[in-house]
Amino acid sequence: MNNNSKTEMTIQLADKYMFQTYSRFPITLVKGDGCRVWDENGKEYLDFVGGIAVCALGHCSPLVSRTLEEQSKKLIHVSNLYYTRPQAELAGLLVENSFADRVFFCNSGAEANEAAIKLARRYSHEKFGPERHIIISMENSFHGRTMATLSATGQDKVRGGYDPLLGGFKFVPFNDIKSLDDKMDESVCAVMLEPVQGEGGVICPDPDYLKKVKNLCRDRDILLIFDEVQVGMGRTGKLFAHEHYGVTPDIMTLAKALGNGLPIGAMLAVDELNQAFGPGSHATTFGGTPLVAAVASAVLTSLLKDGWIDHADRVGSYFKARIEELAEKYSFIKEIRGLGLIIGVEMDRPAAPVVNACLKEGVLIISAQEKVIRFLPPLIVGREEIDSLIRTLDKVMGELDS
Ligand SMILES: *Cc1c(COP(=O)(O)O)cnc(C)c1O
Repeated sequence: MNNNSKTEMTIQLADKYMFQTYSRFPITLVKGDGCRVWDENGKEYLDFVGGIAVCALGHCSPLVSRTLEEQSKKLIHVSNLYYTRPQAELAGLLVENSFADRVFFCNSGAEANEAAIKLARRYSHEKFGPERHIIISMENSFHGRTMATLSATGQDKVRGGYDPLLGGFKFVPFNDIKSLDDKMDESVCAVMLEPVQGEGGVICPDPDYLKKVKNLCRDRDILLIFDEVQVGMGRTGKLFAHEHYGVTPDIMTLAKALGNGLPIGAMLAVDELNQAFGPGSHATTFGGTPLVAAVASAVLTSLLKDGWIDHADRVGSYFKARIEELAEKYSFIKEIRGLGLIIGVEMDRPAAPVVNACLKEGVLIISAQEKVIRFLPPLIVGREEIDSLIRTLDKVMGELDS
């Protein structure tokens, strides 16, 4: 059987037997190394998606593979009823490098946000009573696909068809402090937002917006939750995106890049909230197993010690400057947004033709919202790889323009 028909067979199998919840690109990937992946035909792709902001150290990072192998021979899983060293160490690392005092481990971004929502509700319930339970989140936000997190998500395309949604969520426009102020009454227990909106189209707030949100929250004893699932872990050129804005939350959620591809999420919070999550209040079977925790610790240590976060900042600036050159050439590029290595390019037309043409040329990129191209390369990406992407974009956009 030749490789082309192998690819077709894989696609046929998947389309026949799986729910078609994804409209997938018609390639089957079999191998990865750094910022590159290969399909079943041996075709090479430059990867500027990185598993959607997951593979920060790149594909099959030797550090990840080695840690995975070593820990897999020691201990893979035990119940969270027992202590394990890798989990305790990871918690210590996260706390020592953040505003937080406590960590809860889970398996995904949605679960981290579930934990955040539950913690905020329970804390407010105990402190102020059940009336105070409203969580304000943002229009155009994305917090996940479970019932609670889609109820917290300000996008109809995520919420549609799942009524009745979980009650107790209200929405205000992102980056609009007046609207938020108007809604913050006695019934509100928390404000939840992404410091930089990812799925919403890579939207950065005004420099002082998060500070104003924090002040409103503090004045009214309302909790502040930052969802850093996409923009945390060095993506923006700082370990956490909120560091750019000089504000800390009460609760923060992490996932995507935390395990460099192993499923792990985390919900971090200040010590004041510790009491609200006592024994029996929340749990998950797989959260922070020794295997994933060992890998996440190794990844975080490397991010901090090997300079990858500064690197993301530096090459991110270079990347943006190169895209600005394209913007001068192609008037359909309307705006370039982002921080570090999360970059969005808004066009006056759909992004899909650019994304699909790049795929043919051997470059993986994705969109965020209809008209925004989004780049989320591994943080280890180099200038040559960025140059190579820019050449492909130039070619593809040139053809689009004619
Ligand atoms: C991806 C994402 C989530 C959901 O994470 P899952 O691991 O897919 O559940 C939540 N919030 C943000 C900001 C995300 O980007």
